[in-house]
Amino acid sequence: MPEINQQLSVQEIAALEERYLFKTYSRTPLYIANGSGAVVYDINGKSYIDMLAGIAVNALGYNHPRIVRVLREQAGQCIHVSNLFYHPWQGLLARRLAELSGLSRVFFANSGAEAVEAALKLARAWAKLNLPEDRVVRKSRVVAIEGSFHGRTYGALSATSTEKYRRPFAPLLEGFSFARANDIRDLEEKVNEETCAVIIEPIQGESGVRPMSGEFLGAARRLCDRYNALLIFDEIQCGLGRTGRYFSFQKYHLLPDLVTIAKPLAGGLPLSALIGAEKVAAAFSPGLHGTTFGGGPLACRVALEFLSVLEEENMLEKVAEKGNYLLSGLRELAQGSKLIKEIRGEGLIIGVELECEGKPIVAALLEAGFITNCVHETTIRLLPPYVIERRQIDAFLDAFKKVLK
Ligand SMILES: *Cc1c(COP(=O)(O)O)cnc(C)c1O
Repeated sequence: MPEINQQLSVQEIAALEERYLFKTYSRTPLYIANGSGAVVYDINGKSYIDMLAGIAVNALGYNHPRIVRVLREQAGQCIHVSNLFYHPWQGLLARRLAELSGLSRVFFANSGAEAVEAALKLARAWAKLNLPEDRVVRKSRVVAIEGSFHGRTYGALSATSTEKYRRPFAPLLEGFSFARANDIRDLEEKVNEETCAVIIEPIQGESGVRPMSGEFLGAARRLCDRYNALLIFDEIQCGLGRTGRYFSFQKYHLLPDLVTIAKPLAGGLPLSALIGAEKVAAAFSPGLHGTTFGGGPLACRVALEFLSVLEEENMLEKVAEKGNYLLSGLRELAQGSKLIKEIRGEGLIIGVELECEGKPIVAALLEAGFITNCVHETTIRLLPPYVIERRQIDAFLDAFKKVLK
């Protein structure tokens, strides 16, 4: 047996993956060893400021002392308990999520896609439960939004509009259609008696940080009420503090029926949740839906700690402050650069749309010690950890300015 703890060279790491992994990812040649706060170190000890936070997962950065402490403590008690039995942390976390969202009931899963899957299944089951017997319409249609990304499983993929993700896997689920983002008239045309759910990312992430307007979300709420369909908000990327609010929809005076969350929820451990209104509770009766790992004690306890840190360290205010600081720095940059076309987002979810290709910019920033990411060819996406410091934001703005020149 080869020693599994041995130090591998970058060539060995790459060669192993090249030989043994399905080629689902085209990796950037950055070999991350460890991190602290908003900084990560590669295996040669070079440091980078992480403006992406592991795609919105590492909201508290790396090696947060409170996360590490409870993780160690819980790992020494129990890591997994099946959903056949009770443990203390799932109910405590569900209560907290209900309080924070204004909704009532929670189902835990492991990934974003699974939470979306649960939402779509619940919506169809709920529609059947509520359908008057004399009604012949098949109330199973889902309306999603152009530019959406909801995950890679079949249900979530069926609600995802990007053709290149969908085409190889056809046929996808029946009954999904797409309304144009922020186009109320188009939404009105697509939602009808047969609609069981409308699913929206209040701020689209993968498509380049594209916020939905309050009017559009309000129209979706009214249409769902009119046709007795469920309004699902996918807050997997924009939720849990990233906008400076626990949920991005809390900017507006409306409540969805279902919300999905995942990425930063358990401090980097896989955990997702579907949160729902009391009125839909009956749709999931015992045995209808479930998961082996979802809601285990380790992940739930770490998630409770994550939420406590957000609260006790006034993290939401800090996110809003730092977000404004970063946004105004970027806007200033845009004034002096012809390469920036538009800046979107709020809090620490920001898209910088360029007039040119984003890839070389991302590569130059990496060279300068900053991790960013390019979505849809021309948009630089920034999702820094909430713990990023002002001087680190300054350093990034400085580097970005140089790179754009
Ligand atoms: C990342 C993401 C998903 C999918 O989450 P996975 O954990 O990768 O399955 C779904 N919706 C949104 C908005 C996301 O950003």
